[in-house]
Amino acid sequence: MEKVQVTVTGGSGYIASHSIIKLLEKKYSVAATIRNLNRESSLRKLLHKHAEFSDENLKFIQADLLSDNNWAEAVHGSKYVLHMASPFLSYLPKDPEQELIRPAREGTLRVLKSSLAGGVKRVVLTSSMAAISYGHLPPKNESLLDEDTWTDINGPDLTPYIVSKTMAEKAAWDFMENEVKETMELVAINPSAVLGPVLEKDFSPSAELVKKLMERAMPALPEMGFQICDVRDVAEAHISAMTEKAAAGKRIAVTDRFLWFKEIAEILHNEYADQGYKIPQKTLPHFAVRLFSLLDKETRSVLNELGVHRKLSNNRLKSLLGIDPVSAKQSILETAKTLIEQGIIKSR
Ligand code: NAP
Repeated sequence: MEKVQVTVTGGSGYIASHSIIKLLEKKYSVAATIRNLNRESSLRKLLHKHAEFSDENLKFIQADLLSDNNWAEAVHGSKYVLHMASPFLSYLPKDPEQELIRPAREGTLRVLKSSLAGGVKRVVLTSSMAAISYGHLPPKNESLLDEDTWTDINGPDLTPYIVSKTMAEKAAWDFMENEVKETMELVAINPSAVLGPVLEKDFSPSAELVKKLMERAMPALPEMGFQICDVRDVAEAHISAMTEKAAAGKRIAVTDRFLWFKEIAEILHNEYADQGYKIPQKTLPHFAVRLFSLLDKETRSVLNELGVHRKLSNNRLKSLLGIDPVSAKQSILETAKTLIEQGIIKSR
């Protein structure tokens, strides 16, 4: 029987690599886009370490979100498209419009247009909690935000990344409403901060906090935190969202729970202190963070997150996709373990 083909955009990425591994294990064939075909052989080698597959079931196509070239070829013959490529930077870019917002938004539209023209049945878009939870105050009571809420891009203190993800997802739903007549379906997956096994040295910025804590790059901890989810759940959610009937037209948040930096540091300390890792345990007073932010624009961009508790529901993930999330603790520990194994954490 001929295999069902899935296009995965941004095939070199953290979430994409985990997704390709799962797709190949589930006997799909994969067409992965990458920006630079020179990476094909090292990516193929990496994927062979984690999945058993025959090379003919995985092909790579060069495509950039900022160019029309090769997108038709990238989706040709695919029943499903997982659109994961989007710039995710560990620094604040000089030109957010060019470096983040344009590729995210225009790239999403390019992928959707090519998918529609190529007869794709369903596109699963990797959006983010960034498109749900910002630009407005979190609820005062214990209630959780869910997929019905949108980030307000006219709200205060948004990072360019948050704007890029919100505008890309909005553009996708608008495209579906205005251009698509029942022929193609869209699902948005909205992960919170993604942790879990890091497969290679080129890792996603989301593992950066664990690296910083393990290397004691910050001597004390700002009172900040985030919702955490596991990369394997994010991959599974995308794959399950390709075929789950009831997922069509829905946003689905992927998350386990919220943890403060202090709680993350405590989990790492309990596991690694006796191996010589000096993980910071003290909380930095807000005034000290504000003072430091005068010198550091990355810190300045997240000042408004001090003391803020943005909680997100995973009810839809559980009820619609049947995924019981990996615990945040396990994701944190496996991030640290694999960062050490890959030689990415330098000091102790
Ligand atoms: P990642 O490893 O940095 O992956 C990003 C991918 O996007 C890379 O393959 C990158 O290609 C590709 N890309 C960036 N700009 C591109 C362009 N102009 N043209 C083509 N490809 C481009 O990060 P990730 O964590 O796996 O992120 C994957 C997706 O998940 C992104 O959409 C991100 O916004 C979303 N997300 C991530 C998190 C998280 O915490 N990690 C949370 C929520 C949502 P190169 O390798 O060539 O740079």
